[in-house]
Amino acid sequence: MLVVMKAQASEEQVRAVCERIESLGYRAHPIPGAQRTAIGITGNAGVMEPGTLEEMSGVQEVIAVSKPYKLVSRDVKEDDTVVRFAGSDGSFGGCDLAIVAGPCSIESREQAFTVAERVARAGARFFRGGAYKPRTSPYAFQGLGEEGLKIMAEIRDRFGLRIITEALDDESLELVADYADVIQIGARNMQNFSLLKKAGRKRKPVMLKRGMSATLEEFLMAAEYILSEGNYEVILCERGVRTFADHTRNTLDLSIVPAVQRLSHLPIVVDPSHGTGKRNKVIPLSRAAVAVGADGLMVEVHHEPDRALSDGMQSLYPDQFDELMQEIRQIAAVLHRNVQEPIPAVAKAGR
Ligand code: PEP
Ligand code: MN
Repeated sequence: MLVVMKAQASEEQVRAVCERIESLGYRAHPIPGAQRTAIGITGNAGVMEPGTLEEMSGVQEVIAVSKPYKLVSRDVKEDDTVVRFAGSDGSFGGCDLAIVAGPCSIESREQAFTVAERVARAGARFFRGGAYKPRTSPYAFQGLGEEGLKIMAEIRDRFGLRIITEALDDESLELVADYADVIQIGARNMQNFSLLKKAGRKRKPVMLKRGMSATLEEFLMAAEYILSEGNYEVILCERGVRTFADHTRNTLDLSIVPAVQRLSHLPIVVDPSHGTGKRNKVIPLSRAAVAVGADGLMVEVHHEPDRALSDGMQSLYPDQFDELMQEIRQIAAVLHRNVQEPIPAVAKAGR
């Protein structure tokens, strides 16, 4: 159910409707739009009688939302969600593409700083790197844990990059929420509903990666879990799905980008690194992702991929990342979008 307020409705009127909804045992989600505020209603207290709200002052209409996902839907919020960061001109979902780059794992201070400097100088605004790694083998490198998070926080201070890193479980979620700017929920956790709910209670943006075999509806419903807890800053990430094709690690499903954009106001970025698993396919698929209308890219970069402790095969060399940025600047321009130049202070220091 959705309450659409009149364009001239006052804040008090919106508040009164929210209070009425909550008093009936539901949760109210006021979502301001360009024209008017809509109030999403969620909860499992049964079907609500629309008449109770329709008569309240400031209410334009009460409509039933038939789709299973509500808060992520364009029915509730027509205009695109833009996730912004205090003190940074990087964002997800606006005219500027969000470029996230960095190694698969934070391996050492030196490794992380070397890669961060190069991606910052190329114009990225976001630095990725795992401190907690979901590895197929329990004997593979599991990440540096909190030490990795501290290194990333130093990188934010040094280069002005905003930090994205994965929370694997409840324990790492607490730490990641303390240190990072964006909490990443990985493909293997896309339907870890208790983790999604906990991330929904944090006041930090969440990047939700698509599960390896998730349908579009399952992906949006997973995002709905986060929004239903009151966190509306969710960024979706397509990272490839399992198919019979064996020439790549996963099959990057670029068609989900326009499919998501039709149904949802949330930004969606593409990860061509996990999506292909092969370095030589990352640049071509990055170009395609920008051309298909993605709101950004998440790309793995390593200065010594042969020595990387994880995902070296799919990590770009920094020079290749420079090339990628040059190419996508031109493609973005055709679509009236933009790939930012380096932060002036970083560009000057690099000279
Ligand atoms: C990652 O981005 O570090 C990662 C582990 O990706 P995914 O969850 O998509 O496998
Ligand atoms: Mn990786």
